[in-house]
Amino acid sequence: MRPPAGSLGAMNHHVLAATGLTKTYGPTVALGGVSIAIGARESVAVMGPSGSGKTTLLHCLAGILTPDRGEVLLQDGDTVRVDALGAERRSRLRRERFGFVFQQGLLLPELTALENAALPLMLTGLARREAETQAAGWLSQLGLAGLEDRRLGQLSGGQVQRVAIARSQATNAVVTFADEPTGALDQQTSSEVLDALLQATVGRGRTLVMVTHDEHVAARCSRIVRLQDGQVISDSAPSQPAGSPA
Ligand code: ADP
Ligand code: MG
Repeated sequence: MRPPAGSLGAMNHHVLAATGLTKTYGPTVALGGVSIAIGARESVAVMGPSGSGKTTLLHCLAGILTPDRGEVLLQDGDTVRVDALGAERRSRLRRERFGFVFQQGLLLPELTALENAALPLMLTGLARREAETQAAGWLSQLGLAGLEDRRLGQLSGGQVQRVAIARSQATNAVVTFADEPTGALDQQTSSEVLDALLQATVGRGRTLVMVTHDEHVAARCSRIVRLQDGQVISDSAPSQPAGSPA
C-alpha cells in the first residue's frame, strides 16, 4: 500500500504522507492519484515538464489547495489531516509549521529585508522588537548581516532569495516548500542559495520539498520525484551522489 520512501534508507516515520491525491480543473487532470511519503531530513526534488502537476502537488501537500480526493497527513508530534482542516486552521498550520520559498511574490518590496523576515513571526503574535531580533539572527546566518535595512530593490537576486529563506525559516518550519526557488538565478548564485536552503532545512533536521527544473539543483537533493501528466513516473535518489562534481 505504502509508496516507496525513496532509496535513502528505511524511513519509518513520515513527516508528510499523502495518498491518492487527485485534482482536476474541468477536463484537465492536474493530479491523477499521487501518493508520496516523506521522512524527516529528506530533501525531495519534484521535477517534470511544465504542466505536469508539480505546483499542484506542492500546494496540496502544503494545504494551499484542497485535493478533490486523497489525503495529506502531517505527522510531527501530533497527526494532522491537512486536507480536512477548515480554511482558518489550514492557514494557521501554514503560518506556524510550514515554510515557503517561491521564485517571487511572497516578499513585500516596500519592506526592508529585516521587516520581511520578521513578518511571519509578527503574524504568530510576537512583538515587533522580539520578531526583529530573531529575524536578524536568521539574516545573519544566511550571510546578510549589515543588509537588514535594505529594501528588496537594493539587493541582488541571490540576496533576495536569502531573505526569502530567512522569512521561511523564522518560525522553525517543520517542512519547507519551495517552488523554483533558484529559477531566476545564474548557476553560481543558484548553487549558493541552494546551499543556504539545504543548510537551513535538512541541515537542522527539517524537511525540504522543492519543485525545480534544474538537474544540478535536483542532484543535490536526497530524492527526485518525477511527474508526468499528473502521475509519479519515477521516485529515486539522484544517479550522481549529492554534491558530486559534474
Ligand atoms: P506545473 O507546476 O508542473 O507546471 P501545475 O501544477 O501548475 O503544473 O498545473 C498542472 C495542470 O493543471 C496544467 O495543465 C495547468 O494548466 C492546470 N492548472 C493548474 N492550476 C489551474 C487552475 N487554477 N485552473 C485551471 N487549470 C489549472
Ligand atoms: Mg509550476
